[in-house]
Amino acid sequence: MVAVAQVTQARQSTRVGLHPEVEALPREELERLQLQRLQASLCDAWDHVPWHRERLRNAGLAQPQDLRSLADLQRLPFTVKNDLRDHYPFGLFARPIEQLARVHASSGTTGKPTVVGYTAQDLSNWADLMARSLYAAGARRGDIVHNAYGYGLFTGGLGAHDGATRLGAPVVPVSGGATERQVTLIMDFGARVLCATPSYALAIAEVAEQQGVDLRKSALRVGLFGAEPWSEAMRREIEARIGLRAADIYGLSEIMGPGVACECEARNGLHGWEDHFLFEVIDPDSGAALPEGQAGELVITTLTKEALPMLRYRTRDITRLERAPCACGRTHARILRVTGRNDDMLIIRGVNVYPSQIEAVLVGRPGIAPHYQIVLERHGALDQVSLEVEALPAFAADDYPRLATDVAHHIKSLIGISADVSVMSPGTIARSQGKAVRVRDLRPK
Ligand SMILES: [Zn+2]
Repeated sequence: MVAVAQVTQARQSTRVGLHPEVEALPREELERLQLQRLQASLCDAWDHVPWHRERLRNAGLAQPQDLRSLADLQRLPFTVKNDLRDHYPFGLFARPIEQLARVHASSGTTGKPTVVGYTAQDLSNWADLMARSLYAAGARRGDIVHNAYGYGLFTGGLGAHDGATRLGAPVVPVSGGATERQVTLIMDFGARVLCATPSYALAIAEVAEQQGVDLRKSALRVGLFGAEPWSEAMRREIEARIGLRAADIYGLSEIMGPGVACECEARNGLHGWEDHFLFEVIDPDSGAALPEGQAGELVITTLTKEALPMLRYRTRDITRLERAPCACGRTHARILRVTGRNDDMLIIRGVNVYPSQIEAVLVGRPGIAPHYQIVLERHGALDQVSLEVEALPAFAADDYPRLATDVAHHIKSLIGISADVSVMSPGTIARSQGKAVRVRDLRPK
């Protein structure tokens, strides 16, 4: 009893996070809560989504109550993005459309978009988790949040917006684009928090520099950057040029949107909010669960989603999970920074390469600006990689061949692929206004 009292006292004396009552919950209690919510969510999916009911029956469940432990989850089937497309637009929803508060959709680059829905309670939970994420990254009540995530069907803009509002932080809902004006607003309004894709944050930094504005002298102190994979090198670059602490935030619309996981100030992985989601890592080829700490595909089950419960959703993101307690005091599992999406992995002459690995070599390389394009072509039977990079303005065209040789050498020695490198003059490569397109794949399909 004494030990319990001491623990309780210790927990109360240091406030952990925005929602300390759950963010520092001991693992056994967290898992008890997860099981309770998983069972309720499974009943809901069973009762309201015939597709789930049929698949659960096929997996050997006579009734949803047959799931008795978190380990039983491994008996259940996966859900993939195509399942959402196959039931376009609302076929997997567990609530009728008139009970929804909002829908979002992903940009469908191929075929139909994937549509996701939220009840008022779902939106409220999302606002809570996004507020929790903002707080974990260092934002506080009263901080002005400059929100340069795109507003619209994309979940980034409204997700960050509602989270800031829930935190009590005034939002500047600027969305993406009109970058000169963004710089003016950041300076004039005294924004303390910047939300954007990492590539767009860099575009803002660059435009500020061209205007002669030093963002390091602005009030910005905290950045939440996500919606595309980025490297530690890109983090250092953004922090140096804007003068803030850059946190990685993770989410996907199929699960909720931004705020599924976020880095805390310890920056040793992103806390995945386990009171609302169950995280697993599987072998992407066999589908088998992997032991903790091993890298594989992240699979997420929603525990509280009403409109669109998701069972074992395969994210295609490759990562590792860490359940050891974090220095910050939070007990929720950490998702080690996502290196890339399985779909983004390039196989270049037998070598597996993520664009973010190429970025890590390029960004911060002497003479090279942090803007690049990877071009893939096929010559005969062989894949050929070309890299288009930009020189920094201080370098003359005479220096370009030397810079190209230097980049090619480091790509070869650090990643193991041979690339044709073209160094181009400053401003040649198109700047991101939202999610950056880093790869042009010209190989025949
Ligand atoms: Zn932490």
